[in-house]
Amino acid sequence: MQADVAQSQKAQPGPVALFVSDVHLQASLTHTAEAFLDFLQRHATGAQRLYLLGDLFEYWAGDDDLDDPFHRRIADAIKAVGAAGTSCYWIGGNRDFLAGERFAAACGLSLLEEPYVVELAGHRIVLVHGDAECTDDTGYMLFREQVRTPAWQQQFLAMPLAQRKAVIDGMRSGSRAAQQTKSYEIMDVNADAIAALFGVTDADVMVHGHTHRPGEHVLDVQGKRRVRYVLPDWDCDGAAKRGGWLGLAADGAMTRYDLDGLAIR
Ligand code: MN
Repeated sequence: MQADVAQSQKAQPGPVALFVSDVHLQASLTHTAEAFLDFLQRHATGAQRLYLLGDLFEYWAGDDDLDDPFHRRIADAIKAVGAAGTSCYWIGGNRDFLAGERFAAACGLSLLEEPYVVELAGHRIVLVHGDAECTDDTGYMLFREQVRTPAWQQQFLAMPLAQRKAVIDGMRSGSRAAQQTKSYEIMDVNADAIAALFGVTDADVMVHGHTHRPGEHVLDVQGKRRVRYVLPDWDCDGAAKRGGWLGLAADGAMTRYDLDGLAIR
């Protein structure tokens, strides 16, 4: 009898993987943080893998900021998911690309380099944050190239934490001002960049965030059907709550979920 129970439990495993990004965690947005912690506990725990695909934090000034109690609480919660048996992975976004090995160890996760290709449940999946594919935004692409160099990062991380935070604050207000003058199209991914990424990786599925335009896009690249999933950003502190994640089941089905864990379709 016990063996039967064990078998039926095995026949209904949790999801193969969950994908989430753009939670934009910050201590002042308490409802968003609670929603994410709830997601980790109720949904990510039980999945075989959890992929955090960038901009989990509103910004990350360096791994010495782990001493901040809010950051420590988030790291502990991710570590608990791993301790329960879920393998956790991280791709940095444009806001938290400075998260490094000390952060990874505190969270018990593996840092991945984008684009990262993984074969799961019959799919060949390419994972990116999404900012590198927004090639129409030439100003941002130049900035990105600069801040991703080891020289820039070493120089930046050599500054005291408080000074780094002040620099980031300046960048964030500059970026907000710049966004107001950029068109809606410029701030989305470029179709050629997406096709090129599918072509070079030969993936049939792409998952990314960054653009805050959640969706599912079917396209043909080199005569093959491909699907691009865009993850939603999270905000549970504003008037209209939003957020969610993407799940991959053992049978290969991919499902977008809202904040309540209900399938979107
Ligand atoms: Mn982003």
